Amino acid sequence: MIREAKAGDLHPNGVLKELGFRYDSNNLYQQTIDAVLDAAEMLDLPHHLRLILAEPKTELMTHFPVRLDNGVYRLFKGYRVQHNNILGPYKGGMRFHPTVALDDIKSLAVLMTMKCSLSQLPLGGAKGGVQIDPRSLSEDELRRLTRRFTSALGDNIGTDHDIPAPDMGTNAQTMAWMADTYMNFHDSQNKHQSRAVVTGKPLKFGGSFGREKATGQGVVYAMEECLPALDIDIAKATFSLIGYGNVGSWTARLLTEQGSTLKAVMDHTGAIYNDKGLDAEKLASHVVSTGGIAGFEGGEAIDEETFYRTQVDIFIPAALEQMVCRKNAALLNCRVLVEAANAPVTPAGERILLGQGVTILPAILCNAGGVTVSYFEWKQNLQAETWEEKKVDKRLQKYTRAAAKRVTLAAEKFGCDLRTAAYCAALENIAEVYKLRGIFP
Ligand code: GLU
Repeated sequence: MIREAKAGDLHPNGVLKELGFRYDSNNLYQQTIDAVLDAAEMLDLPHHLRLILAEPKTELMTHFPVRLDNGVYRLFKGYRVQHNNILGPYKGGMRFHPTVALDDIKSLAVLMTMKCSLSQLPLGGAKGGVQIDPRSLSEDELRRLTRRFTSALGDNIGTDHDIPAPDMGTNAQTMAWMADTYMNFHDSQNKHQSRAVVTGKPLKFGGSFGREKATGQGVVYAMEECLPALDIDIAKATFSLIGYGNVGSWTARLLTEQGSTLKAVMDHTGAIYNDKGLDAEKLASHVVSTGGIAGFEGGEAIDEETFYRTQVDIFIPAALEQMVCRKNAALLNCRVLVEAANAPVTPAGERILLGQGVTILPAILCNAGGVTVSYFEWKQNLQAETWEEKKVDKRLQKYTRAAAKRVTLAAEKFGCDLRTAAYCAALENIAEVYKLRGIFP
């Protein structure tokens, strides 16, 4: 919905106005919650539910010191935002990135609530992180930081309460340190079950087969469900990508395995292009050894504008939020935009793209693969089981298929775009549970 308001005015959305939000069109939290509330309006959700969902239940911020290798102490800022747990324990990643800030973490926590609900997982939504560039720290420093942050969170995380996972800048090793720290503080009868306090752990320490590639795999399953209706054949499609971390590189490898052509990639080190297709596997090894796509021999360097203008069937942002915005949306030359990242398109960017007839497959459908396999890992830990990769993939595909169907049905029912439809389907599920449980007391 187009909002007519000046920066600093009370927010034009009735619920956000009631909560005292000052309008800021660039604020990611306001952008996210505004879109969710538009869907709530479409569903005619009760006022009290809109109020509850408009703010997270808990926002934790902690400052903690860590000794660096040179003996100097540095103070770090860590966050954990728990948005909603009506469906089950809070769930969501821990991000280590220099841009980590409260409003962004709040927004990502809302998206986790929506994502888990759309996939009908018995989990709520949370997100956290530390404002740090992990590449600027040694492994020892990162380990001390992770352990100190985990201990600062104390009982605010827990197997049945809030379950972190990897996100940007964190990985299976980070999760192993988090789980180990937590287990040292929670030496109960169920010590080994308490590994389930985080997911995305290494395979040898309670991780699940298929978790590392899970988000990329989920993106591809979602595309397999949605692209045929748009007359796009994955085996013949061309695509470009922003971001070549875990999600981007897995998505690229799985798509090219099926015959798609990867025309262009951009990351924090530059942009590259190859008309005949970039080798996704070789590019992944190059990024692991050099830290970015720059200097990859299998493609030519291009500038940012040329990257955005590259003609492809599918454009996949798989990096930070708000990358596709008013400034560059009109440059895109694609038929479908697949949101592998969380909130990669701003509302202004979205209006331009929808106006150009581009279909946007929304993030809460496309990138739910990570949290879905996290849910499988949590289940395996609690039941002391190990599932084969085939079983994990098959179940992930089933969940993704069902979620895609819910989105398509909601889009038909409400006659709206797919993002609004995805939020409608997620909210309907949450609203039913609130109706059954009621509001305490
Ligand atoms: N960080 C991932 C996400 O944003 C995974 C979260 C999880 O597995 O809990 O969806």
